[in-house]
Amino acid sequence: MNIALIAHDLKKPDIVRFAIAYEPILKQHHLYATGTTGQRIMEATGLSIQRFQSGPLGGDQQIGAMIADNEMDMVIFFRDPLTAQPHEPDISALMRLSDVYQIPLATNMASAELLMHALARGELHWRDIVKDRDTDGK
Ligand code: PGA
Repeated sequence: MNIALIAHDLKKPDIVRFAIAYEPILKQHHLYATGTTGQRIMEATGLSIQRFQSGPLGGDQQIGAMIADNEMDMVIFFRDPLTAQPHEPDISALMRLSDVYQIPLATNMASAELLMHALARGELHWRDIVKDRDTDGK
């Protein structure tokens, strides 16, 4: 599965802890991240992550483009709901596209942990079926 990891600045320590805790699960998948989030996680873990631009410089939009191409299977997005973000339109667009394409999206630690457990139990294999179907249809 292709999994995107994003965290706003005040949530970066949380996503690093999350990535350390779930490294055994995450390392079985292809990981993508916005620039700084990916760098922080790679510094703290042995995970290999394909990094996009930093969020405010277009990273959220790059992940959104993967969703629109049906190439992203899950988005873990530790949002900071208490701080204004300069790239709020990009954040809204990313969440909107997740809804358009029915992509599992967790915007906080509690939900993200549930997605990790579902992933470990193989409960997200339906994404492979959806992707195969779309590929056949093209
Ligand atoms: P960053 O971007 O990982 O490059 O900090 C995340 C964001 O703020 O959207």
